[in-house]
Amino acid sequence: MSVRSAAPTGALEQIVWPRTARRRDDGVVEIAGIGLDEIAERFGTPAYIIDEADVRSRARAYREAFARAFAAIGTQADVYYAGKAFLSSHVAQWVTEEGLRLDVCSGGELAIAKKAGVPGENIGMHGNNKGVAEIDDALAYGVGRIVVDSFEEIDRVADAAARHGITAPVMIRVKLGVEAHTHEFIATAHEDQKFGFSAADGQIGDAVARVLARPELHLLGFHSHIGSQIFESAGFKEAATRLIALQLQVAKEHGVELPELDLGGGFGIAYLPSDAPLDPAEMATQLAGIVREACQNADVAVPRVSIEPGRSIVGPGGVTLYRVGTVKPVQASDDLVRTYVSVDGGMSDNARPALYQADYHAALANRGGSDELTPTRIVGKHCESGDIVVRDIDFPSDTRDGDLVVVAATGAYCRALASQYNHVPRPPVIAVADGDARVLLRRETIDDLLALEGE
Ligand SMILES: *Cc1c(COP(=O)(O)O)cnc(C)c1O
Repeated sequence: MSVRSAAPTGALEQIVWPRTARRRDDGVVEIAGIGLDEIAERFGTPAYIIDEADVRSRARAYREAFARAFAAIGTQADVYYAGKAFLSSHVAQWVTEEGLRLDVCSGGELAIAKKAGVPGENIGMHGNNKGVAEIDDALAYGVGRIVVDSFEEIDRVADAAARHGITAPVMIRVKLGVEAHTHEFIATAHEDQKFGFSAADGQIGDAVARVLARPELHLLGFHSHIGSQIFESAGFKEAATRLIALQLQVAKEHGVELPELDLGGGFGIAYLPSDAPLDPAEMATQLAGIVREACQNADVAVPRVSIEPGRSIVGPGGVTLYRVGTVKPVQASDDLVRTYVSVDGGMSDNARPALYQADYHAALANRGGSDELTPTRIVGKHCESGDIVVRDIDFPSDTRDGDLVVVAATGAYCRALASQYNHVPRPPVIAVADGDARVLLRRETIDDLLALEGE
């Protein structure tokens, strides 16, 4: 069974690829002016490749769009890059240079932020179970805010602040029962989940009282994160309305006007050519309108607003380059022969298909390939049948051993979630810009793995 490609041979569907990606006349895909065949030659495969200009331009677009839209409603908006999507000290520097702040959620992420020289006041710290040592580190570095997630943590942060002789700026993470994604594993604002204080049973009011009772804490406001891979603003509207109602309640009960509000991250990106994410300017305008209206209706002052995009900053600019090993036709059903193309990585470098049934798009990278396409599944080299890289794609039917395959939109939550499953060392992260390539994170080696073994 085969189909003809509607597009010219190997044409790239630009929406899923880094902004500087294109297929050259000789058929090779290049990013930032460097052929992926050259990247494979110099750095080996698999490799993560990140388009610096793409990441910077998206960071800039968020900062500018949110600054403009929220200035128009008389307030400021801060954009925190959610470092958990992918963090290295270089990326922390890029986003800092583009005017973003940085969210971290562990001592390890904080260490990278420090190494990158991100100023403490530009850092927010999250997490539902931050350890005392992590809180101490954060306060010692002067982080701009800690998002508290439990009663224990309110006391932990207050006690730590007392030890440091400072007042710690905190936000209270709340769950509002607003779900902005259909997939249970990556939605984080259900009632039946671990994050935040619940509106339903009066926990939020108790948390506010507890924070206000501790002079070592300065309450900035509420924080909510309603999900991931969100394409519409409706969920944010519901969340913002509930958040503003909470603010009004605090003003009435405690006479305190909370100066800030965090709407979280979760802005969606195009993984597939059919995906149509909102652009930052549109999202910013919609969110500013939502916040203004909610504040007007509740008759409260418009707070300073923050958002926390992760995926939508680094996701689209990243790709993963693999080399094809084996190609096997499989009778998938009575009327479908599927070609299984095995590459030299898989679920250890991209866990998302196995974790979330995530879909990806791919292209041959070293040549355009035949314009006859065949139903294909790109799979990894791990000992799991769920080790899928791209579940279903019509791919050139002449794909063979030695070809290069590039998978789109792997900049977020791929290296960040990578494992050494099957003792497969983790791939390097190579940044490309202006015809240059450099190593952000080197390839792990088998010696690195052996070095972990005790005597
Ligand atoms: C994961 C997370 C983000 C970032 O989510 P994206 O989908 O990558 O934009 C932001 N804020 C919080 C609290 C998170 O947990």
